[in-house]
Amino acid sequence: MTTHQENDVTPRIPAAQQTHAAPQSRTTPAAPAAPGLSRRGLLLGTAAAALAAGPLAATAAHAATATPAASAATAPAATAAARTPKVLVIGLDGAMLTRVKDSGAPNLAALMAGGLTAASSLYTNPMAGTSSGPGWSTIATGVWPDKHNVRDNNFTAPAFAAYPDFLTRVETADPALATYVVASWAPIADTIYSGRVDTRVATPSAEYDTGTTARAVARLRDGNPDAVFVQLDNVDHAGHSSGSASQAYLDAIRGVDAQVGQILTAVRGRAGYAQEDWLVMITADHGHTPTGGHGGSTWEERQTFVIANGSAFPAGSVRHDVRMVDIAPTALAHLGIAADPAWGLDGTPIPALVPDDFDALRPQLTGRVDETGIAAGVLGFTRTAPAGWSVDNSAMGTGGVTEWRGWSFTTDEFWTKAQRDQNRELNVRSRNVFAVADSDEWADKTFQGNYDSTLVSPEYPVAGRSSVPVTFNTFYRPEGVQTARVLAVWDGGTPVEVKSYTADTNGRQRLDLAVPAGASRLRLRFRYTGSNNWYWVLDNVRVG
Ligand SMILES: [Zn+2]
Repeated sequence: MTTHQENDVTPRIPAAQQTHAAPQSRTTPAAPAAPGLSRRGLLLGTAAAALAAGPLAATAAHAATATPAASAATAPAATAAARTPKVLVIGLDGAMLTRVKDSGAPNLAALMAGGLTAASSLYTNPMAGTSSGPGWSTIATGVWPDKHNVRDNNFTAPAFAAYPDFLTRVETADPALATYVVASWAPIADTIYSGRVDTRVATPSAEYDTGTTARAVARLRDGNPDAVFVQLDNVDHAGHSSGSASQAYLDAIRGVDAQVGQILTAVRGRAGYAQEDWLVMITADHGHTPTGGHGGSTWEERQTFVIANGSAFPAGSVRHDVRMVDIAPTALAHLGIAADPAWGLDGTPIPALVPDDFDALRPQLTGRVDETGIAAGVLGFTRTAPAGWSVDNSAMGTGGVTEWRGWSFTTDEFWTKAQRDQNRELNVRSRNVFAVADSDEWADKTFQGNYDSTLVSPEYPVAGRSSVPVTFNTFYRPEGVQTARVLAVWDGGTPVEVKSYTADTNGRQRLDLAVPAGASRLRLRFRYTGSNNWYWVLDNVRVG
């Protein structure tokens, strides 16, 4: 089953090469200063009381330009609970984490050393292209493109009314908070972030990133914003011009790094910095091919990342379970704004992410066996279930591709590299290690019999309960005779079907199972059958 992919993105050009009129600039007066600390103390709750010293601790990279505020980490600052939470998100268009590291960019390196670094990956078409419209919309809203409906850079029918940007959610939660967005790419300020944001600036194209930086610096130094989004564009330009493998791309990263440094210096130089609790996040909307370009489905184009530097993030920490939809809820949580389940956010505040049983397998993942499209160094699969789980392959055919002979545990990188452009890239709601039954990939080598494999859960105690909630992420692509069934086993009895799938699904499933009278134990069986069809992915299974 083969498909094609194409790059559908028109490169953006810098101001010097643009001939059309400057983008519309919308600047409205700054909102009044935010109210005092008391309401934030209420919003934040007790968790903030445990927060440590200031997030932007001075590092070697900044020592040369240290301001009084740069040493706030060791200064007798206000207690964490009394400090005012503030958020700064800086988006570096088209920047790749691997190349950020290669560049040695000092300000970004210091943020990584002092906080969390998490690589992540994106969808592809038909969900959305790896382009700026979907990328920045996903980061702004905390939902994937199948919800916000920005599929490309045309913004044909965005669902921002249902899934607004996080600055708009800040304004809804507390209109007194001051919000600010400034972007070199105009649609961010004009379209993605709504008119409810206090100040939106699409930087005039003649000013490009220099103007964006200057405006962000001025606002952070002279104003009193509570939540800020800044987008710098030039790394993407270098990617289009020269490719992500080029020296020019590294130079562009170092260029925006210096601008990030200017912005951080403005934050640290704030008169009230010692009484403020800043969360700084750096991210990107997509990657680039080595020779330049994005929009398609290569692993390089699908690369994104978040660097999170703040009191909730341990210095030098690394996570594998973070996705781009987490940035908005992380920002909101830092401001003390709890997400309402009715918002339908796909993301979770990063500090609140809880690994599942499958994630524990990451150290056991190994490289390819029969697959040919995956580089030998990519460690990404095991067929050994985690503790408490098992795989029943008693009805499974023989032969086929070793990696996918029955339920396997794998990663987005390994699984999507097995074969691109068969919608595996749409598995955006899985995190870190997940379980997959894939009869299509299994059938790529001589096999006998059918694909018939059952993933078996641990036993969960249910005694004394009338109903038990079972939740899991399910990503299912059906075809032909394929089946996907969830069965419940009560006290070791006969399996009973409680759910089956016949159509495409991509979301979180909740089943409220009625507990039979007297039952004390529940085990789940996830049975997939097929014959060179598609696949079923499960992740984050929770019972109770
Ligand atoms: Zn681009």
